[in-house]
Amino acid sequence: MSRIVVLGGAESGVGAAVLAKVKGFDVFLSDFGKIEEKYADELRKWEIPFEEGQHTEELILNADEVVKSPGIPVKAPIVRKLMDAGIHIISEIEFAGRYDSAKKICITGSNGKTTTTSLIYYLLQQAGLNVGLGGNIGKSYAYQVATGHYDYYVLEISSFQLDNVYDFHPDIAIITNITPDHLDRYEYKMENYTKSKFRITRNLRPEDCFIFDSDDEITIEHLNKIVLQTKMLPFSQKAKVEQGAYLDKDKIVLRYEESETDLYLRELSLGGIHNVYNSMAAALAAKAVDIDDEVIRESLATFAPIEHRLEPVLSIKDVLYINDSKATNVDAAWYALECQTRPVIWIVGGKDKGNDYSVMNQLVRDKVKAIVCLGIDNKKIHEAFEGIIGAENMVDTHSAEEAVNASSRLAAPGDVVLLSPCCASFDLFTCYEDRGEKFKDAVRKL
Ligand code: ADP
Repeated sequence: MSRIVVLGGAESGVGAAVLAKVKGFDVFLSDFGKIEEKYADELRKWEIPFEEGQHTEELILNADEVVKSPGIPVKAPIVRKLMDAGIHIISEIEFAGRYDSAKKICITGSNGKTTTTSLIYYLLQQAGLNVGLGGNIGKSYAYQVATGHYDYYVLEISSFQLDNVYDFHPDIAIITNITPDHLDRYEYKMENYTKSKFRITRNLRPEDCFIFDSDDEITIEHLNKIVLQTKMLPFSQKAKVEQGAYLDKDKIVLRYEESETDLYLRELSLGGIHNVYNSMAAALAAKAVDIDDEVIRESLATFAPIEHRLEPVLSIKDVLYINDSKATNVDAAWYALECQTRPVIWIVGGKDKGNDYSVMNQLVRDKVKAIVCLGIDNKKIHEAFEGIIGAENMVDTHSAEEAVNASSRLAAPGDVVLLSPCCASFDLFTCYEDRGEKFKDAVRKL
């Protein structure tokens, strides 16, 4: 019996281990850290042997193949040892793809993955298709392949999950956009990060589709260097396209094969120009799986905003509080500020990822009344914006509650308080969801 060792005991690792068990492999799971109780329970339930707090080499280096969780970096000593021993390392996505014949719509990119993935899932559900949602969202793809059956999957795939993908075959691949993020994992080379995202296209066939943002310079630059023999469906807000989607004044035009469909912007439920891009990508995927125009229109009009992404929380004394905690990089926050039509009290800060804030200057000048810094070290934010809005309009806070209280003092009726931090959350919070929840709790207590 071949032996599969899974490294990492969280959502993706446990899913892979369960699938390996179901497929009759000799499975072992190892996690150098602590395994959450719910995952340990799951492993016990499936009678999968595992260890935590250590990597026992004798139990790992005898694997025929290893499934590595995306959170474990290549430079981890155990990964090095596996590579030295010539043991094949794959990702959970690669592993699960071997046992799944569903049609797969796969989404990667720097920003907009979750929104676009959720939109497409909703569109396919509304069309009455038997569809699963997975990857980086919800239950892992491998777990679902092990335990269920779908005709379609919509999978959000991060660049880390793509790093160990070789033969995995999406029917429709989408790159939402490529902007600098997580460069620490790619030797600070944009080229490496871009290549990793483009791995999603490596097995596309002529009858498949590649959906991409043709306004995105990095995407286009890379496309010019490679040859893709598949149906190309660009989306753009700047130029007309022959096949794909483009913006024509107040509407999106979809051109797919012989058909042309208009979608009016005023009918889209999600606001902001970034969501026009996301809606374009989602609508193209829907066209490619032959969903009716009416269902596309109706779905894009009724889709509800997702938590922590420009999520309206409450309006108090005519001040609207918006939770965009998921904006963990500058580009995401740029789009969040861009679509504000009322004066903004901007809550920003956290764990800086080597941000260049200068792209925000014009928006801050035009839209921001005051800045509430929310991080342990706010020096860079002060340096970036004091010259624009004045030191007197900036305050430092160190908890969501302090930040919300300070914002409510600074806000006047008609203003917006926008949490869109540009930064990771790990200095003061456990994750972006925790930051968003604490922000919402504090707002509700006002
Ligand atoms: P991801 O899953 O790639 O992190 P999300 O859909 O969760 O993307 O959105 C993350 C953040 O990026 C949100 O703050 C959102 O407002 C912003 N955003 C969403 N779509 C885009 C886009 N197409 N371009 C730039 N920013 C976006």
